[in-house]
Amino acid sequence: MEMKPEELDVLISQLTASEHLYGHIRVVDPVHKRVVYQNTGHGLEPVSDLRACFELFDKKTACRNCISMRAYHENESFIKVETSPDRVHMVTAIPVEIAGRKVVVEFFKDVTNSMIMDDASFNQGVEMKRLLDQANLAAVTDELTRVYNKRYILEKLPADLTLALAEQQPFGLIVADIDHFKSVNDTYGHLAGDQILREFAAVLKDTCLDQADWTARFGGEEFVVCLPGKDRDTVLAVAERMRARIEEQVFHYDGQAITLTSSFGVYALAPGDVIDYETLLKRADQHLYQSKRTGRNRVTG
Ligand code: GH3
Ligand code: MG
Ligand code: MG
Repeated sequence: MEMKPEELDVLISQLTASEHLYGHIRVVDPVHKRVVYQNTGHGLEPVSDLRACFELFDKKTACRNCISMRAYHENESFIKVETSPDRVHMVTAIPVEIAGRKVVVEFFKDVTNSMIMDDASFNQGVEMKRLLDQANLAAVTDELTRVYNKRYILEKLPADLTLALAEQQPFGLIVADIDHFKSVNDTYGHLAGDQILREFAAVLKDTCLDQADWTARFGGEEFVVCLPGKDRDTVLAVAERMRARIEEQVFHYDGQAITLTSSFGVYALAPGDVIDYETLLKRADQHLYQSKRTGRNRVTG
C-alpha cells in the first residue's frame, strides 16, 4: 500500500473519526526503532528528535515481541496485548509505504477497563497469561528443531544489535550449515535427516555460553547463533567448539550410526563498530561460504 504523507493523514483522520477507538497513533521505522510521525493532537506530525519507539512505555530496551518488526517483514497487520503492572494496552501494527519508504502505523488503546474475553476459562488471569505466552512462543519456534525460527531472527537480531551499538558492546554472530546434507538425506532417508537436524540444533544451543545467547533455524539445514556482548575471540572459540562437537558426535537413526561435519561463518563486532543487521547476516554468510569453498568442516571469521 503506497501512500503520500497527506494520504496517510486522511487515512488517520478516517480511522480516528471514532475518537474512542484508539488512544494514541504514531508511525514508526521498526528496523531502526524510531518514531517517524506522532499524533500531537493537531494530527500526525513528523518527529525530529531521535526518540526510540520503545520509550513510550518507559521501557529501556526494545520489546521482546516486536509486532511492528513482524508487520514490516511479513507485510501483514498484527495485534499485541501489552501489560504493565497496572494497565493493559492493545497495540495494532499496520505496514504502509510512505513516500517510497516502508514504515508501520501503530495504534494504541488502553483496554484495562474495556477488554472482555468471551470465554469463562479466560477469566482467570493466570490461565489467560499462560495461553498468550504459549501462543507467543509457538509463533517464534521452529516446529522441527524447537529452537527459534527465521521470524525470531528477523525480529530479535535488529533489537539485540541496536542495544549493543547503543551500549558500545561487542557482538557476535555465527551461521552454521551441515556439510553435504543432501547426501545424508539421500543415503539415510528424510526422516533420518530430520532427526539429525533436531540433534544438530541441540548441540548448537547447548554450546552457547549464557542466557543472552540464542539459536535459531534460518531455514533448511542452516542455523544462526547470536551472542550479544561476546568479543571476537570468544565467538570464534564457541564456533570452533560447535564444529568439533558435531564432528565427534555419532547420530543414531534406525540402528544406523551416522557421522557428519558442518561449516561455520563468524562475524564479530568490536565495541563502536556500526553495521545494520542485514549486512551483519550477509558478512557472516560470506564467511560460511568461504568455509565451504576452502574444504568444509571449518570456521571462518
Ligand atoms: P553443502 O555442504 O554445500 O552445504 O551441501 P548440502 O548438500 O548440505 O547443501 P544443499 O543446499 O545442496 O542441500 C541442502 C539439503 O538440505 C537439501 C534438502 O533436501 C535438505 N533439507 C532442507 N530442509 C530439510 C528438512 O527439514 N529435513 C530434511 N531431512 N532435509 C532438509
Ligand atoms: Mg549444507
Ligand atoms: Mg544450506
